[in-house]
Amino acid sequence: MNNIVIVGAGPAGMAAAVASSSQKGAQVTVIDDNPSTGGQIWRGGSDPANPWFARLSQTNTKVVTSARVISGDAINRSLLVDREGNVQSIPYSKLILATGARELFLPFPGWTLPNVMGVGGLQALVKSGLPVTGKRIVVAGSGPLLLAVASYLKHHGAIIPLIAEQASLRALASFTTGLLSHPSKLWQAFRLNPRFAGIPYLTNCWIEAALGTNHVQSIRLRQKARMWEEPCDYVANAYGFVANNELATLLGCATENGAVQVDQFQQTSIADIYCAGEAAGIGGVDTALLEGQIAGYAATGQTSFCSRLQSQLRKAKAFARSLNKTFAPRAELQTLAQPDTIVCRCEDVTLARLRTANSWRSAKLHERCGMGPCQGRICGPAAQFILGWEPSSVRPPIFPARLDTLLQENSVK
Ligand SMILES: Cc1cc2nc3c(=O)[nH]c(=O)nc-3n(C[C@H](O)[C@H](O)[C@H](O)COP(=O)(O)OP(=O)(O)OC[C@H]3O[C@@H](n4cnc5c(N)ncnc54)[C@H](O)[C@@H]3O)c2cc1C
Repeated sequence: MNNIVIVGAGPAGMAAAVASSSQKGAQVTVIDDNPSTGGQIWRGGSDPANPWFARLSQTNTKVVTSARVISGDAINRSLLVDREGNVQSIPYSKLILATGARELFLPFPGWTLPNVMGVGGLQALVKSGLPVTGKRIVVAGSGPLLLAVASYLKHHGAIIPLIAEQASLRALASFTTGLLSHPSKLWQAFRLNPRFAGIPYLTNCWIEAALGTNHVQSIRLRQKARMWEEPCDYVANAYGFVANNELATLLGCATENGAVQVDQFQQTSIADIYCAGEAAGIGGVDTALLEGQIAGYAATGQTSFCSRLQSQLRKAKAFARSLNKTFAPRAELQTLAQPDTIVCRCEDVTLARLRTANSWRSAKLHERCGMGPCQGRICGPAAQFILGWEPSSVRPPIFPARLDTLLQENSVK
């Protein structure tokens, strides 16, 4: 029996499920920790997503939601799944990891104040009902998501005084010229142009500090030598994405620069484990869909369907590379955090305390950095950016689990 298990029901996982279930006899299961499928971008549905939801519903894929993979064993080919406190061991013959990405936060003084949020994070809150009508929201950081979210927030009644993009005008100009060879992206960029939404878009500009007592009341912005304060009710700030590679790393898959390494069939360095979407390198939704399909076909031995997708993927990846280069955080952002700035917000570890350690491992052991509920998912990439520390090994459980869940883990082994 070809038992395909897919972790992650975002665009990559959904595409992998559709492709793998096209093989007769394949038994396909998708596991996701959210209550519904769609991942970060399609949760709640959207026009581009609808054909994929329809295609998935026409397969006999078993979709397991509100279930989190907390551990795995590549030798015994099994995953440990925590579904609201109940633990289950799920075997696989082929595994496709489509675990997506999270936002990259770079600490600055005041970044832990209430109402300073992630860009996608604030959008998700508004999607689930947070009212923002009449609220002043500064959108800052880097990448095209700033434009999409600023327009979205404005559409929902927020006042967006400006978008602060840290990339330089020169980098953006050369990126825009490069869009000429990607007409569909050029159209998207045209639609997202902040000028159409009447929002000032400042390049070479970033947040130096968030100010306020019980919550953010203003931010200090820098654009080259100019510094000023901007009053606001919320800040939406992120510097792109970080691949969720923890499960892959735990299973022994090789990574490079945070991305899970894959071959042309999305096969990782571990036999019968594939990886697709943001976890295999930040590339956006089109890349995720192509990689998901390739992984699904390859895992079910249908590699003849891959070559057309692979040539589309080469183009999509060239675009992703230029996007990642354009919006890569600049070196000046490494010096925003001050000695008393908290870097690990779960355990209240300041930059000064981090500097007493000489590696991520010693910071974990001696300062408890990365030992809290997020398990280093937020502070790890920040420490890597500020201090150049390589992340150390990943240990199970990869997400916090209750003690009785872990006790059940022993009984299901
Ligand atoms: C907060 C946020 C907001 C974004 N908003 C936009 C946007 O507005 N527009 C846009 O173009 N792009 C947006 N993106 C980028 C977009 O999400 C990706 O390009 C696209 O969704 C990639 O698809 P994916 O399938 O690789 O990952 P995802 O869509 O992230 O799907 C991965 C899924 O795997 C689940 N998962 C991960 N680990 C486990 C585990 N151990 N157990 C169970 N489930 C697990 C996750 O919860 C998630 O549902 C956003 C990204 C983030 C992080």
